[in-house]
Amino acid sequence: MTDAPKSHGRKTITVSLKPQELMTHSPRLAKAWTAQVITLLPEAFPGVLGESLTGRALKDGLWQLDTVDLRLFGEGRHRNVDDTPAGGGAGMVLRPDVMGRAIDHARARMPREAPLIYLSPRGKRFDQAMAQRLSDGPGVTLICGRFEGLDDRVIGHYGIEEVSIGDFVLSGGEIAAQALIDAAVRLIPRVLGNQASTEEESFSEGLLEHPQYTRPALWNGLAIPEILLSGHHGHITAWRRAQAERLTKERRPDLWRAYCAVHGRDPDEDQEL
Ligand code: SAH
Repeated sequence: MTDAPKSHGRKTITVSLKPQELMTHSPRLAKAWTAQVITLLPEAFPGVLGESLTGRALKDGLWQLDTVDLRLFGEGRHRNVDDTPAGGGAGMVLRPDVMGRAIDHARARMPREAPLIYLSPRGKRFDQAMAQRLSDGPGVTLICGRFEGLDDRVIGHYGIEEVSIGDFVLSGGEIAAQALIDAAVRLIPRVLGNQASTEEESFSEGLLEHPQYTRPALWNGLAIPEILLSGHHGHITAWRRAQAERLTKERRPDLWRAYCAVHGRDPDEDQEL
């Protein structure tokens, strides 16, 4: 399909502008959790999300992916999407009218309560709590920037949330979008075979996870901590908790202080190990 849709009304929507086997087939989005991605690189999806756990869940319909090709909403014969920055300077900026059309098209087929997020290094830092919040809702519309990013008026006009995956600059929002989708999708019930494993993971209780070991019991002269082979579940649980606390205190004093505040603990207390 080479033409941008002339009307963005529901009836004229064809969802997969470039149908791909793993993407949504039907014009109406099903009820499953939906990741909608506005991007100049729709071929980059599902990418790694099509593999392993998230890939199986996509095939099983536990979530769906809806890519919106920004280029189709471009201006003129060449479908231009960007222009030089007002005020001068390097690079190009994504045009607000082009992005606005893509957003209107995308939002028309998402539930209103699904958040609209622009992946951006200036955004709120993505974390496990945000992944959980997204996973609990109907889905998310993600905008991937390229070049110098979006015209700021679009962000204000649509009340877009800005979310960053860390204090570094990527060349585009696609990798960030895939990281966010992966973190949210694995929290959808039934995506992970063993639901309990998300409850014990890093961050789920405000702590980093305890160290993990598997066979062989002796490797390069290094033994698995004896307690893990003792079969005593009470001791193992206590040991793991103590290790998680030790690691968090050592590596992430910010998380440790927050954890102590919640549990009424003194962050400077000596730990018994
Ligand atoms: N000029 C911008 C950076 C643009 S990078 C600035 O200095 O803030 C191009 C695109 O990559 C951005 O529009 C954004 O969508 C994406 N991106 C880059 N770094 C990111 C990060 N840490 N988190 C999320 N998205 C990011």
